[in-house]
Amino acid sequence: MGNRRATSSVSAPTFPRDEWAIAVLERAALLPPGVKDTIRRELPEWVASTVIQRGADGTAVAAALAKAAHVPLASLDQVDSGAAHFVPENLARQYAAVPVSATNRGIRIATANPMDLDAEQALGFVAGRQVEFVYALPDPLMRRLEEIYRPERSIERLVSGLGTTGIVETAAEEIKVYDTGTAVEAPVAKLVDATISDAVRERASDVHFEPFDQGLLIRYRVDGVLREVMRVPRSAAGAVIRRMKVVAKLDVSDPLHPHDGRTSARVDGKMWDLRVSSIPIARYGEKVVVRLLDPSTGIAPLNGLGLWPDELAAFEKLLKNREGVVLVTGPTGSGKTTTLYSALDRIRSTGINVVTVEDPVEYHIAGVNQIQVNEKQGFTFATALRSVLRQDPDVVLLGEIRDEETARTAWQAGLSGHFVLSTLHTNDAVGCIARLVDIGIEPYKMASALKGVLGQRLLRRLCPSCATPVAADTLPESARPPVGFERPVKLLTARGCSQCAFTGYRGRMAIEEILTVDGDVAELIARGTLGEPLAVAARNAGMRPLFEAGLRRVWVGETSYDELFRVVGETSVRPSGEGAAPAVAVPAAAPPAAAAAAPAEAEPVAAPLEAASHPLVLVADDDPAMRALVTSILTAQGWRVAEAPDGIVALDEAQRLRPDLILLDMDMPRLDGLGVLETLRRRLIGRAVPVIVVTAHDDPAIETRCIEMGAEDYITKPIQPASLVARTRAVLRRVGTP
Ligand SMILES: [Zn+2]
Repeated sequence: MGNRRATSSVSAPTFPRDEWAIAVLERAALLPPGVKDTIRRELPEWVASTVIQRGADGTAVAAALAKAAHVPLASLDQVDSGAAHFVPENLARQYAAVPVSATNRGIRIATANPMDLDAEQALGFVAGRQVEFVYALPDPLMRRLEEIYRPERSIERLVSGLGTTGIVETAAEEIKVYDTGTAVEAPVAKLVDATISDAVRERASDVHFEPFDQGLLIRYRVDGVLREVMRVPRSAAGAVIRRMKVVAKLDVSDPLHPHDGRTSARVDGKMWDLRVSSIPIARYGEKVVVRLLDPSTGIAPLNGLGLWPDELAAFEKLLKNREGVVLVTGPTGSGKTTTLYSALDRIRSTGINVVTVEDPVEYHIAGVNQIQVNEKQGFTFATALRSVLRQDPDVVLLGEIRDEETARTAWQAGLSGHFVLSTLHTNDAVGCIARLVDIGIEPYKMASALKGVLGQRLLRRLCPSCATPVAADTLPESARPPVGFERPVKLLTARGCSQCAFTGYRGRMAIEEILTVDGDVAELIARGTLGEPLAVAARNAGMRPLFEAGLRRVWVGETSYDELFRVVGETSVRPSGEGAAPAVAVPAAAPPAAAAAAPAEAEPVAAPLEAASHPLVLVADDDPAMRALVTSILTAQGWRVAEAPDGIVALDEAQRLRPDLILLDMDMPRLDGLGVLETLRRRLIGRAVPVIVVTAHDDPAIETRCIEMGAEDYITKPIQPASLVARTRAVLRRVGTP
């Protein structure tokens, strides 16, 4: 059977699905009296089922229908479980199709409607194989379908072969209360445990479980950057979300509202705090984010933030104030809170009465009264701050200024003999002042209470194991180090190695632009002059804008120019301060480039997957002629191809390039295909990459073993171009790459 009709659209079935069976059974005298009218009237899903319910002999019905459709009868007792791997659950259900067996060339699929040419085409497309239909009666077919696509199957496949995962001990003993005892619980629990421990080992700060149309996407945030780890099939996505909620004791019965909870987990003998939040996502259910906090980290001392000496000195000077307001500003994920705590730590050491108002209280600090805000119950930042001020503290740390009421209260405190430290969400120091004026602080009050603003960003540090020297002329002329720079110049760029998960970076540091409010700057603010004139005055008074502060870090090899550009962006390059917010700007009015400079903010929610228009395929084969052949076939499809001459290189390239697909030769020197597969599957991160194994022998035993070990498919040599293209396309479709 070939593709006899070119139809790409998939329409909902019209009932009965096997309407053609009426005429066949009538001719075979297998239609009980009156059934024909019933079928016409009631339009059941299957003619065959109705006829058998009315007393027709099932064996005879099946034989007659198979014969009429010119297909063999299926034997549903002999279903090769590996065959289901090539047909995703949604399509199997849509077409009521049970994959029975698969070879390198074809796939045999049981159906109760072998006349459905759309089904034949769609199933062949997604399996990358010629479809051979066999006939089975609808009822046994549907029962077999349920067995084959049990949700735990896909999860078991995901967790099988993972390295040791028994190291997570979540502190939620109550889990059993919710345990429904279904078979899916155990493998899902194992997957969640494996994810948490893997995330800790990868130095992730957050784990995102995001539903999308094909299942669940798991991503880690490492050094501020989100990294895809794996995709969980749709059949198991709900169970993973539910498990994560159960572990954090969130209300599993209410998926329609956001929830917050916490738990702890022991990973490799060390305790971690897990802050878990869930939010409903339109159409897809719930998204869960887990923050991983190391409770032993505590507060970094001020001189442990990695500030440049003049930044540290300017900041320390601001902290010597005993009244007024000092703000730290920057986008989400720019480390504002950490800096605030370090500042508090410095002030506290001088024996002064300190109170904090926070949401949430992140670290408990000995000797400091910490107040937890509860917005839901009306205990807001502003109300909390007012009650705190009645107790007359010397210093107040206010977690965040979000609204006018909080801003006004903070200013009153600052003007009446208290020292207030807080954060505000804006792009830079000058924009922070504009924002405050915008939400209602009068300019003269602003000038008299505000002592200074720190604009902050976090830059990733280059990985010391793999950073590579570059020449100065790789930098734009305006970004090159000046002659006689205060420290030895060493320009480096990111490369990537196994020490840094092939990102080229390891750890982060803060850079600051520090605007001190006095003299000319205070006068301008009092007169309501903002925007560029204020930026110019601030520079004249010694403020070094973020981009310039970052350039110094590039010149000494702490980070790369690319990283600085990614985080701070080009708007700051203009020396006139044009990138600063215009007068009365709100953050939303910031230029697009500035928004792009804050990737932590751009959190896609409903559609997390950017379309990779040209999939990248990694071809691992020790035979150069074979690599050249495969490369030419795939590039002709408009795909991008990378090559690896052996298994070791293949592993490195798989991590470094994160290809959409790996074509993996079985027989390679140094490390063979099975070894590569095994290594990739041992860690969660390796499982995000689908693999097609290329074997020299058409040996079902090896093929089955590859599939069991997590390969998506196999192809036998000699390679047929059409088959290679069909198979790679099919795999990309199945795993959800467009
Ligand atoms: Zn490295």
